[in-house]
Amino acid sequence: MHELSRCKSLIEQIQNSISEYAEYKIKTITVLVGELSQIDLDEFVELFPLAAKGTFVEKAELIVKKDPAKYSCANCSQLCTPKGSDLYCTFCQSSQLTLISGTEFMLDSIELTQ
Ligand SMILES: [Zn+2]
Repeated sequence: MHELSRCKSLIEQIQNSISEYAEYKIKTITVLVGELSQIDLDEFVELFPLAAKGTFVEKAELIVKKDPAKYSCANCSQLCTPKGSDLYCTFCQSSQLTLISGTEFMLDSIELTQ
């Protein structure tokens, strides 16, 4: 997906979720981006103000929260977040890991102000 359309669908999503709070202004928008998500984050951050221009989120600040990739270990059942490209459990060094999260791109929270 092109990052500009990702910005636009995010703004649409925000509009839907705050429609009951029309009297408030949006102060910050926090998005959660998984370490392994396919998004071009630099491009997204650059394009967001363009997509937001002239809309109700124009003056909002965009905050990006990065989420490290989490794996579940088949050997010790722990959830771990191995660093770098060596995928071994940080508890038992097993390589039997299953990806649990880290590919997501989603709206985390919206801060409203009056
Ligand atoms: Zn383990």
